[in-house]
Amino acid sequence: MRLLVIGGVAAGLSAASRARRIDRSLEILVLEKGGTISYAACGLPYYIDGRVPSVDDLVVHTPEYFRRERNIEVRTSTEVAAILPSRREVTLAGGERVHYDRLVIATGARPKRPPIGGLDLPHVFTLHTLASAVRLREFIENQKPRRAVVIGAGYIGLEIAEALRTQGLAVTVFESSNFVLGRQDQDLTEAIRTLLERFRVDLRLNSPVAAIEPDHVADVPADLVVLAAGIAPNVEIATEAGIQIGRTGAIAVNDRLETNLAGVYAAGDCAEATHILTGRPVYIPLGTTANKMGRIAGGNAAGARERFPGVIGTSITRVCGVAVAATGLSNAEARREGFDSVAARIESSDRAKYFWAMRTSVELVADRGTRRLLGGVVLGERDAAGRINVIATAIANRMRVEDFEQLDLAYSPPYAPVWDPLLVAAQQLRKQLG
Ligand code: FAD
Repeated sequence: MRLLVIGGVAAGLSAASRARRIDRSLEILVLEKGGTISYAACGLPYYIDGRVPSVDDLVVHTPEYFRRERNIEVRTSTEVAAILPSRREVTLAGGERVHYDRLVIATGARPKRPPIGGLDLPHVFTLHTLASAVRLREFIENQKPRRAVVIGAGYIGLEIAEALRTQGLAVTVFESSNFVLGRQDQDLTEAIRTLLERFRVDLRLNSPVAAIEPDHVADVPADLVVLAAGIAPNVEIATEAGIQIGRTGAIAVNDRLETNLAGVYAAGDCAEATHILTGRPVYIPLGTTANKMGRIAGGNAAGARERFPGVIGTSITRVCGVAVAATGLSNAEARREGFDSVAARIESSDRAKYFWAMRTSVELVADRGTRRLLGGVVLGERDAAGRINVIATAIANRMRVEDFEQLDLAYSPPYAPVWDPLLVAAQQLRKQLG
């Protein structure tokens, strides 16, 4: 009995590892088209800003580790060109055929290439793989660019902008929509614009880029351009095999992460997930989700019966030294989904005032009818991860604002104020809900 996994990063290796724990006798083979497996793409911006000295620091495990410690065979530089479900085989790029009994597709995603002129110019980069990061850093070190344009104000674009600014470049970010971080949230967009201005990063909203020229983009001189205009799931081999693609453009799966083909599972950035609040399929590709989905897909492929409950899109990123964390739906998104939503935003101290307190802002969104929490945003230099995780836990547990307001949260002057900002926001939201 052989489990074949296509893709050797977060989702693929989580799937293989979990399958091994469920079934010790299963033959497990991972095929990865790149030269490296098991690396932390999330650390790439910090390799660009110099904080991570070498890309090798981002590699978690090698193929030898998987062979020795987990009895999992990993073949790198091995691309799957086609899946042949009727024969339970895949064809490799060189023509070799490999049999499978169960298959996990974990092919990830790639940077989108919108129809922009000049994308192939030598000063245009993306940041997605270790190799792409090495190319970008070498260009910075060797060519010493002074002015950069980043296309896209999602979290990757903003992290790159900060990394380039830290390296001393002048940075302009072009964003085609009127909001940042892919979240329809005007207040958040304004807060981030202020942070970027302080860091002297020029953010241009409603500014789709039509063409990149050798030395400028629109009216901005640029000797380096980084394309960060979103990512697209790698679904081509799945589509050709007759695997169903969902409305989001990613592979459709059920709550066991099985595709429409029995015994074929999909996980991570190539697959869609159900939004816990709306029940609808969404495409929110994140490393956290990829690891969890991979674990469940691999477990089920090995015979377990586990369920993936879905996502609410909890994320955190650093923008110019400040953590920006979000979960669930923004007010605008909640309304679009048919909720009668209300939002409250507060600013308060993150510690006792006399203990070197800093300002933190919290926004909570709730549904007027059910009074359940739907979303939240936390901005602050400290403790934003802990606070957003409390909100995410409350949302996933369908908590009402009144119950959230009574949470027994910790207090001690060096760590938190007696009224945690989350509780202050909940009080404000309850008042607004009436
Ligand atoms: P991938 O990591 O894309 O791996 C898929 C693998 O499949 C690739 O190695 C690819 O070569 C291989 N493959 C594709 N097609 C084939 C084929 N036909 N044959 C063989 N192999 C194939 N997420 C967070 O949660 N927090 C963060 O802070 C964060 N920061 C990020 C920063 C950056 C710069 C980037 C790029 C991503 C970041 N992410 C973050 C996202 C996170 O890295 C991804 O969600 C995660 O890597 C997805 O894992 P995956 O295994 O699904 O896909």
